[in-house]
Amino acid sequence: MLEFFDVCIIGSGFGGAVCGAKLSEAKKTTLILEQGKRWDKNAFQQTQDVKYLKEIYEEFEGENIKISTGRCVGGGSLLYSASSLRTPSSIFEQKDKDGRRLWPSIYNKGSLNSYYMRVEKKLNVKQLLWSEVPKKDGIFAKACNAAGYTCDRLRTAIVNCRNCGFCHTGCKFDRKQSLILNYIPDAEKNGARIKEGCKALLVKRNEKGYLVVYKDLKSGLLNEVSCKAVIISAGAVQSPALMLKSKKFLNNLSDHVGKNLSANGDMFLAGYLPNEDCEVYKGKAQGCVTYAFWEEGFVLQGMGTLPISATVINRIRFKNAKRPFYWGIEMKRVMKEYGKHLLGIAVIGLDGSDGRVFLDENDNIRLSWSMSEKSRKVFDKAIARAKEIVESIGGELLITEPYQERGEVVTVHPLGTCRMAENITDGVVDANCQVFDNPNLYIVDGSVIPSPLGVNPSLTIAAVAEKVSDYIVQKFQE
Ligand SMILES: Cc1cc2nc3c(=O)[nH]c(=O)nc-3n(C[C@H](O)[C@H](O)[C@H](O)COP(=O)(O)OP(=O)(O)OC[C@H]3O[C@@H](n4cnc5c(N)ncnc54)[C@H](O)[C@@H]3O)c2cc1C
Repeated sequence: MLEFFDVCIIGSGFGGAVCGAKLSEAKKTTLILEQGKRWDKNAFQQTQDVKYLKEIYEEFEGENIKISTGRCVGGGSLLYSASSLRTPSSIFEQKDKDGRRLWPSIYNKGSLNSYYMRVEKKLNVKQLLWSEVPKKDGIFAKACNAAGYTCDRLRTAIVNCRNCGFCHTGCKFDRKQSLILNYIPDAEKNGARIKEGCKALLVKRNEKGYLVVYKDLKSGLLNEVSCKAVIISAGAVQSPALMLKSKKFLNNLSDHVGKNLSANGDMFLAGYLPNEDCEVYKGKAQGCVTYAFWEEGFVLQGMGTLPISATVINRIRFKNAKRPFYWGIEMKRVMKEYGKHLLGIAVIGLDGSDGRVFLDENDNIRLSWSMSEKSRKVFDKAIARAKEIVESIGGELLITEPYQERGEVVTVHPLGTCRMAENITDGVVDANCQVFDNPNLYIVDGSVIPSPLGVNPSLTIAAVAEKVSDYIVQKFQE
């Protein structure tokens, strides 16, 4: 059955939800296709059950890289820690190795400020009070102080946190300001239609604009939507994959589709602190950040984890062991030894965008990462600083092996695979996120961010979406 809409948006995370609210507000008939299910506070489970986690998360694993994303109406916002930082202005001035500015010239200090303000208001972003900072982050701040570095409270999109410690499985108390509490209901109130469990398979140009072919994952049926404009917001892994699958139905795509994958310098380290009771799984997931190393290309943040992360540490540290990692005496030892005294430390920094998303001969998504000198330098420095901080209160730094010995990365902040640029030689979309040579086809999500940000990216993705939505609405009126 063929349906007609002004706009079809593919994906409902920070890019898709914002565009959905704005386009429907401007009275454009809007359809949002989302492959994941709808969840709310009554459906979220405070559990570490892998079956549940597999339903709401989508994991991608490739050569030397693992990526975790959300797979639900509201995308990553249901699972994120809600740390909401503006991108420091020096980021917009970054250049590549040939001296070319990575961001289009309209992006500079201040150019996103009014859009940041809109998103911060909508998501109730505020800096935490010290009394709201969880114990583990207090310990992180104490360790920074002992090592001689400043550390401050994070800005988060959380209101009256219940401190239950389950931010990463969905907030059962609606305190975390996920997109299902703001932009998504706004879009629906304005008349946008959201089809959950529907996966876009192809985007094709036609005489009216575009045709989107999608599969209803429940019934298995294929459907088509005809629309004047398409906004692809499927995230930094799936958006380039969809573009590559649709290549023969579109005009002249840039060679950059799928390239320049940044892990946003993510590293997940842990401090083993025998003298502290970190209560690592209690309270909001994150509470503190130190910018003391910004000139070296990274920030460090305290990070909470569910106890299951002890198994992850075990799995990463003893990767080549033959026995299973999730039970047995070894697991017991890790839980006992590390559970209570474990402090998560997140590194976010300016890596070399060394990854790629591509398709194999059967159109399956593949990823690869090859650690460049630039990435290695930043990671090595960050590990040295984190070690200094942890050791300043008698601790030991763990989980450095994957990055330093094996050149692997794990990220929840993939960026850059359909990057924006001034022209098609350097990127996939223009400064308004319109795909070069394909009018009214837009990509709006983490994939268009042309450089690592060095801070958590959701606020910037949403601010870019606010800005671009204004442009798309204006284009409809011409
Ligand atoms: C555990 C965790 C913690 C995080 N914490 C933070 C944090 O504290 N602060 C921060 O700034 N960021 C955080 N992030 C990252 C943040 O969630 C992402 O940067 C952000 O969600 C990316 O937005 P997006 O619009 O690019 O894509 P997403 O939010 O990933 O949305 C893409 C959506 O598209 C859907 N989709 C994909 N393919 C298709 C298709 N073919 N058809 C239909 N639908 C499709 C997906 O199911 C998904 O819902 C965290 C992420 C995780 C996983």
